[in-house]
Amino acid sequence: MAMELLPDLVRLGGAVILAAAVLQAAALVAAGWRRTVAEDRRRHFALELLRQRVAQATARTAAEARRIESQWQGYRKFRVERRVAEVDDVASLYLVPNDGGPVASYMPGQYLTLQLRMPDQPRPIIRCYSLSERPNGADYRITVKRIVPREGGKPGLVSGFLYDHTAEGDIIDVKAPAGRFYLDPDDNRPVVLVGGGIGITPLIAMLNAIVAADDGREVWLFYGVRNSAGHVMREHLREVVARHPNIRQRIAYSDPTPDCRQGVDYDLKGHVTIDLLRQELPSNNFAFYVCGPSEMMRSLPAGLRRWGVPTTDIHFEAFGPASVKAASGAAETGDQPGVHHAVTFARAGTTVDWTPAVPTLLDLAERNDIAIESGCRAGHCGTCATVLKDGDIEYLDEPAALAETGSCLVCVAVPRSDVVLDA
Ligand SMILES: Cc1cc2nc3c(=O)[nH]c(=O)nc-3n(C[C@H](O)[C@H](O)[C@H](O)COP(=O)(O)OP(=O)(O)OC[C@H]3O[C@@H](n4cnc5c(N)ncnc54)[C@H](O)[C@@H]3O)c2cc1C
Repeated sequence: MAMELLPDLVRLGGAVILAAAVLQAAALVAAGWRRTVAEDRRRHFALELLRQRVAQATARTAAEARRIESQWQGYRKFRVERRVAEVDDVASLYLVPNDGGPVASYMPGQYLTLQLRMPDQPRPIIRCYSLSERPNGADYRITVKRIVPREGGKPGLVSGFLYDHTAEGDIIDVKAPAGRFYLDPDDNRPVVLVGGGIGITPLIAMLNAIVAADDGREVWLFYGVRNSAGHVMREHLREVVARHPNIRQRIAYSDPTPDCRQGVDYDLKGHVTIDLLRQELPSNNFAFYVCGPSEMMRSLPAGLRRWGVPTTDIHFEAFGPASVKAASGAAETGDQPGVHHAVTFARAGTTVDWTPAVPTLLDLAERNDIAIESGCRAGHCGTCATVLKDGDIEYLDEPAALAETGSCLVCVAVPRSDVVLDA
């Protein structure tokens, strides 16, 4: 019986072994196929990623080439197409090229340099204004705050003229967009935008560019202003925040009036300080963009550095001389007993002593009745470029405008040795 069954058992065993082998082979084929499919998928994704990166880089290079090509040299005539009253003493002007040509693109955060011929002024006056809207290929928008005199101070010459006397249809000479304070297009890390007073303008351009890119990156906007009377583009900002959960804002009013509603118009009473940033932000791992009045510029960049934010992640813009000095920390190092240098104004035939109590070489010239033409007084417009015939200077803040070799921008320069200027 056992012998009779043997062939069947052998057959059965053979069949089992065969089936096992077939199953193993099938499993191996399936595993190999799965590996191949997974490998193919990986390759496909890697190639797709590479293709996207190349396309993005090509698009960026083409955009940058178009931006550079569409720039212009010197001044170009722009027409005020539209004037919009924003809040008290603040108005936006929309500018279009009077020659009908295209507007040059720019980086959100950059500014325009305007040259204005004003009735009572013997010479054109130059000032810079940030572009307050993202690039749109159609027009430029600037948002100007009229400087109102306080306690015997002077009213703002150009801001008053632009606010009070500039109407739709007027022509203004404009230099191409410039400046180093802009949102880095290659860096889509989370950002913190901090604006104080009218210093919010370049940050609104940055915010609007981020909204248009719609890349979902984390954005914190801190905006410090006196009260609702100066709260620029409140409704726009509120809408942006309501529509984009990735964008948060904190509004600080330093001097809220009884009609300002905490929790509606503003979040907290006080200023935007480094303590507030540390309290609100989940970490210091952001790219920071700061633009505001001198007190803010004095405290925030230094506070961020103390908090351990790398200097490469701290970007700031100063709107005027006080802010430049504050941001550079010059105000704190101003008193240096024993430091002085002889400054010779060669054309005037005068040599005077400079000490750190004199903020800049331009101030020294003006205090000694030596005329040097100037504009922004913040190293942006290049108007005060003066030939440095001898000696060394240092900049309070690296100027955005480039002075020709052998020249310096005296509005942001101090001497580092005895110097001779061609002025
Ligand atoms: C890069 C850059 C971007 C700028 N962007 C803008 C912008 O978007 N919107 C805007 O309104 N301004 C902006 N400014 C400031 C602007 O260029 C002028 O400095 C400002 O309008 C005052 O010029 P003004 O001729 O009216 O005042 P001036 O006649 O030059 O000064 C009159 C008085 O006001 C004081 N003063 C000058 N500037 C300021 C100031 N910024 N804040 C407070 N007091 C001041 C002066 O010390 C003086 O006492 C920017 C400046 C720079 C450098």
